[in-house]
Amino acid sequence: MQPSRGAGVSPAVFAAPAPHKNAGERPAPQSIGRQAHCSDFRSIPRCAKIAPVSLLKIPAPELPTFRRGMLSWFANSKRDLPWRRTRDAYRIWLSEVMLQQTRVAAVLPYYERFLAAFPNVQALARARIDRVLGNWSGLGYYSRARNLQRAAKEIVARHAGNFPREYEAALALPGIGRYTAAAVLSIAYDQPHAVLDGNVARVLARIGAVRGELRAPATWRKLGATAQEGLDRNAPGEWNQAMMELGATVCTPKSPRCAECPVQNWCRARALGIAEKLPAARKKRATVEVTLAAAVLLDPRGRTLLVRQPDGDGALFSHLWQFPALETTGRDLGASLAAHLRNKFGVGGKDILTPLTTARHTVTFRNIRLEPYLVRVTRLPRATEACIVALARIRRLPISNATQKIADAAIAFK
Ligand code: SF4
Repeated sequence: MQPSRGAGVSPAVFAAPAPHKNAGERPAPQSIGRQAHCSDFRSIPRCAKIAPVSLLKIPAPELPTFRRGMLSWFANSKRDLPWRRTRDAYRIWLSEVMLQQTRVAAVLPYYERFLAAFPNVQALARARIDRVLGNWSGLGYYSRARNLQRAAKEIVARHAGNFPREYEAALALPGIGRYTAAAVLSIAYDQPHAVLDGNVARVLARIGAVRGELRAPATWRKLGATAQEGLDRNAPGEWNQAMMELGATVCTPKSPRCAECPVQNWCRARALGIAEKLPAARKKRATVEVTLAAAVLLDPRGRTLLVRQPDGDGALFSHLWQFPALETTGRDLGASLAAHLRNKFGVGGKDILTPLTTARHTVTFRNIRLEPYLVRVTRLPRATEACIVALARIRRLPISNATQKIADAAIAFK
């Protein structure tokens, strides 16, 4: 298990500018404003003569100290993660893709397993897509894996097997956006591109006391420009990782640990006592409740039928293997599912459907109630885009966690 950054990690270790005499206290409301902020930095003679870094408003002469503090803190406090022990662009790229919308702890076992199966971009490019998805199985958001392989094929075909060094060429690869391109190019190749993700945006917004929704296009653009201006061009990879690490471990969404923060003396949100209120909450998309009735057809040999039909059964998990299923809002799920099985596979009848333990599954804004049924059959039907597999071994195929939950309910019942 990798160490996580905790309370025992050393706090700020660098020489900050002369602190405000009331540093650490919440200033009176009337002290909030540009002039009051300037007075926080008494070593700076006249703020008007100093160009601040856009949203951060850090006086230019202090930027080297600000950057040294961040880099020094990162060197002493960073988590020991496998993708930080390499400069191999393929491995860094893989980690960045896996970490999108997924926690570090969840990624670690998948990262090692994926690299064991596909140790380099050539191995990934020539693999069968089912094998790629199988090694991604459980991580979710499978379009990431598909794009990863499509990009690997392009890298082999057009870039001699090397992740491109040019920003525009990296951006042209499937699944690579500005964030991933900047992360890989800076960390693997020392190129001066600043990353901007949710963690970095939160850090920047708090240091600059930026109000409003950060994802608003104009604000996000300014944050991107601010990140680029603040970048330490002598160590862009370390800088980007330091910013992301600070957001992930210290400047967290709830209860930021400002006393441990290496840039606390430049942080306007902290000075104003509003760190926990920033950034403004994002407007959440309303959750949609979905019920999925699924059939675990089981023959006497313990085998089951899985299907893969993007526009048919359970399109919620399109392109992955799944049990025959029906998204329904009706009350009599068993009858609806029985009719579906009869029409589509020529099997079933409500009397042979045995309800299993229900389960819950969440995909982005969908809250799915899984209603599995066991259907014992003497012979499994044949169908296009379908496969027959031992129920206990469906994990070997690319399936979603929802499908595994349904299988678990059936195995527990058997
Ligand atoms: Fe975040 Fe607090 Fe550091 Fe400001 S002082 S950047 S709010 S952890």
